[in-house]
Amino acid sequence: MTLQQRWEAAMMNNYGTPQLGIERGEGAYVWDTDGNRYLDLVSGIAVNALGHAHPAIVAAVTEQIGKLGHTSNLQINLVALELAERLLDVAGVEGKVLFANSGAEAVEAALKLSRLTGRTKLVATQGGFHGRTMGALTLTGQEGKRTPFEPLLPGVTHVPYGDVAALESAVDGDTAAFVVEPIQGEQGVVVPPEGYLQAAREITAKHGALLILDEVQTGIGRLGTWFAFQQAGVVPDVITLAKGLGGGLPLGACIAVGDTANLFQPGHHGTTFGGNPVCCAAGLAVLNTIASEGLLDHVSSVGKEIAAGVEGLEHPLVGGVRGAGLLIGIMLREKVSKEAAANALKAGYLINPIQPDVIRLAPPLILDHDDAARFVADLPAALEGL
Ligand code: PMP
Repeated sequence: MTLQQRWEAAMMNNYGTPQLGIERGEGAYVWDTDGNRYLDLVSGIAVNALGHAHPAIVAAVTEQIGKLGHTSNLQINLVALELAERLLDVAGVEGKVLFANSGAEAVEAALKLSRLTGRTKLVATQGGFHGRTMGALTLTGQEGKRTPFEPLLPGVTHVPYGDVAALESAVDGDTAAFVVEPIQGEQGVVVPPEGYLQAAREITAKHGALLILDEVQTGIGRLGTWFAFQQAGVVPDVITLAKGLGGGLPLGACIAVGDTANLFQPGHHGTTFGGNPVCCAAGLAVLNTIASEGLLDHVSSVGKEIAAGVEGLEHPLVGGVRGAGLLIGIMLREKVSKEAAANALKAGYLINPIQPDVIRLAPPLILDHDDAARFVADLPAALEGL
């Protein structure tokens, strides 16, 4: 049996049969089962913030699993506590943290928190992605993903992303929260117009609704700042995180700012594994390494180099580049992203054909200048003849 046949026989097919079996990784590279090396420009989809097998994560996880692998939330979990304090510190907010195991769980926590305002109406965005659990799926504004699972939660309206007037007419005194991504990652790295998050902050504040920023994809340095909201100069009521936070281990977080944090009272919510010490040790290694290695500035400069480099190619198939930091969408003039990704794979690059006409790059934050330049130089070959 081939690897693909074994996969098809044993694994539920939610993603289509994958082309590769990835066996190991180091830095920004991974190796498949045949020993071929690839530059990983998707990093497990925005997860491996420090790349693969980073010594700081290996050391932190190894030490923690040898010391204390798990403790229930009925005792004080010292590693989770330290990570919560560090997160609030880099976020620059007064608030409280609830840990989860994934992005969808972080969003579920935010959703339940919003119900405790006594309101039930929610506003989210068309094209937005917030996860696949039933509540998060209700917020997700992508028809194809929702339809097979209806009926979903009642009371959720999806407004066009980036449209301030639409948001203004959708939010009212019964709205519990507006849930929005600073950049729509899964929709193809869609960037809202300047001032959108500020307007969202004003509109929600005016009606006493929560502003829930889903930073699962944009948070923890991906855009060149710890969080996207810091670039926008707004302070949300709730921030959801996952992906890069655990550097490859399953870790999500819901940060509630100010009084919002006190809506959860004992008995309201919980999760067995949320805040697992090994995952939180990895999270601390991620935060410490980003800070000690100056990765925020690095992300900004490498991200700009890639964007300028791809635009500078003036390739007839490339319509433009969008995104920020190391969350980059390369817009194609034809719907050939799958073919481009297949060609790139043969040339040793993992890239993500997120939409038929958009390639997403979400490389490790440690991606170096030379590897970034090599990808840009090899991109025309991947687009050749498409
Ligand atoms: N929110 C956003 C913005 C995401 O990009 C994702 C994952 N792509 C999620 C939530 C869900 O995260 P998870 O897959 O860890 O449940």
